[in-house]
Amino acid sequence: MLPSVAIIGRPNVGKSTLFNRLVGKKIALVDDQPGVTRDRREGDAQLFDLKFRIVDTAGYEDDDAATLPGRMRQQTEAALEGANVAMFVVDGRAGITPLDEEIARWLRASDKPVILVINKAEGKQADNTVLEAYGLGLGEGITISAEHGEGMADLFQALLPHV
Ligand code: GDP
Ligand code: MG
Repeated sequence: MLPSVAIIGRPNVGKSTLFNRLVGKKIALVDDQPGVTRDRREGDAQLFDLKFRIVDTAGYEDDDAATLPGRMRQQTEAALEGANVAMFVVDGRAGITPLDEEIARWLRASDKPVILVINKAEGKQADNTVLEAYGLGLGEGITISAEHGEGMADLFQALLPHV
């Protein structure tokens, strides 16, 4: 069985873009437990010579902001179950938000290894977020651009001990 990597993060940070980059065209649609992660997608990913299962915690992007944190928590916990490591994605252009801080607290409380991924970092757009992200207590983040494929060697190095 391949090791499993969960992509965690609030809506719109680029989780699905990263998922698609790592999976390429081999995307599996997965039916999940009702009410937890309605359109979770799972696939076989490859990054250089690393092969792993990857789970995209999709969904809820269009839903009511008032109940988002509770649903994010359910989704995060469901995604962490069975994962060897979590990639916690934040938006390098938007900066760290209260919801990011809340997700970081859940992740710190779990026993899973977490890789902090600062996305949308092309063109040094994430420089301020890199400093802010230290405050999440999850170590030094790695900067990537899921859209442009930057930072993939650093992502590889970060995943290597866990998959
Ligand atoms: P998700 O809601 O976390 O799954 O985020 P998506 O993958 O759907 O991406 C949300 C938006 O961010 C889309 O408009 C993407 O094109 C954009 N996006 C994703 N990755 C990057 C990136 O590396 N750089 C920039 N500039 N935009 C990105
Ligand atoms: Mg998505």
